[in-house]
Amino acid sequence: MNFEVRRFYTKGIMNVFSAFTNTMQKGIIAIVGTTGVGKSDLGIQLAKTLQGEIINGDSMQVYKGLDIITNKIPLNERENIPHHLIDFLEPHQEYRVTDFTKDALQIIDDIHNRHKIPIIVGGTNYYIQSLLWKNSLINIDDREISNIEDKEILNAEPKIVYERLQEVDPVMASKWHWNDTRRVRRSLQVYLETGKPHSEWIKQQNLPEIKASSLRFPRTCIFWLYSDLEVLDHRLDARINRMIESGLFEEINYLRKNVRTGEIHTPFGDKDFTHGIWQAIGYKEFEPYLTAIEESNDASYLNGLKQHGLESMKAATHRYARTQVRWIRNKLLYKCQQDSLNNKCDGHSGDIIIYLLDATSLETWNQEVRDKAIAIAKEFLANGTGPDPSSVNSRAKELLKSKKDKDDFEILDKWTKYQCDICTIFNDNIPVIVNGDSERNQHLKSKKHKSNLKLKKQFDENCDGQFPSWFKKKRNAD
Ligand SMILES: [Zn+2]
Repeated sequence: MNFEVRRFYTKGIMNVFSAFTNTMQKGIIAIVGTTGVGKSDLGIQLAKTLQGEIINGDSMQVYKGLDIITNKIPLNERENIPHHLIDFLEPHQEYRVTDFTKDALQIIDDIHNRHKIPIIVGGTNYYIQSLLWKNSLINIDDREISNIEDKEILNAEPKIVYERLQEVDPVMASKWHWNDTRRVRRSLQVYLETGKPHSEWIKQQNLPEIKASSLRFPRTCIFWLYSDLEVLDHRLDARINRMIESGLFEEINYLRKNVRTGEIHTPFGDKDFTHGIWQAIGYKEFEPYLTAIEESNDASYLNGLKQHGLESMKAATHRYARTQVRWIRNKLLYKCQQDSLNNKCDGHSGDIIIYLLDATSLETWNQEVRDKAIAIAKEFLANGTGPDPSSVNSRAKELLKSKKDKDDFEILDKWTKYQCDICTIFNDNIPVIVNGDSERNQHLKSKKHKSNLKLKKQFDENCDGQFPSWFKKKRNAD
């Protein structure tokens, strides 16, 4: 009996203890920011001090090959820190965001079980978003759609796209007008990519219980590594020049050769830049040059193509950096701040916080980036709180003001119900309701509404805005 009591008692203590360490352990760190800003370096510096392991969140670095072009951190610079989900897929393999999320969650679980801290080093926005939030409607872009038939249907005539949407998601189809191409296409795209109708996503996102529990991890600390874009552009250009010196062309040629000899299998050919690793910035840009080398000896012609490829790659990289910043400011920041507010209000578990670190000057990296990140991460993982993000540096205050997430508001607006006051009068005051803007616009153009409007005007003119008493009776008699 005594023994039983004691065992029970010890078990109780153990449970309390493991609950405590669980909270400590289930934290996660994510590093986001533009290409070439130093995310991989910060990842390693954090991992070394925090007992962390890195999970790659870049959709090109998951592939084997093109190490230079995709900016994979070289093995000898990884300082024995384990790196997961990097360099493991065949170049042609399809890897959807859902695959990434599933794999990453498994690895994170394993890292937590080994009492270490998972550090996501991100590059690809929809990877990060779907990993940190359950049911987050991922930001789908064209790169996500990898099935050729799906691509064809999305690019078909508006009516055909609409018919397909009616088949797979009649709810959403009823919200849009068939020639509202942009919205119809987006809804279909959501279904094609995720296998779940767009309307289901929206319904789920609006369920209060899901909203409250949408954060996957109890403690999420995001570091946004920021560099002034003009300064960064120079850094990116220099990096591309270095890539060429260290064998960018050889690397691409090796891949091309292996495709031709069948060593690397691709169902799409090596000139399809929308699949697998062939999407990496730089591959497509230098394709004309590398093809011409095989056929021509004209040095000035070749040099022209090479220069053109170089300029295109630089421009594409600059554009990509801007897309990444836009996503952080318009989506990620907004989502973090909303979640953090919601969690504070209704007391749900789960804290998320985003810190901007200024990586504009590499000279101050250690003070501004490394040391600040380490101190913040330690505090946050232990206590679930940290310093006020706007106090960390002088840029943070301005840049951490989120813009509203227009897309989601647009969608919510579509689901707003409107009452037509005019038609309601002529409907014995039984409210005439329409769903969303497009239905409302259709309603306003409808014959019924127009004739009611005409009637109303006649009454207004003849009866000083008062409806004659016989009106209601007459309508009732109808
Ligand atoms: Zn009306």
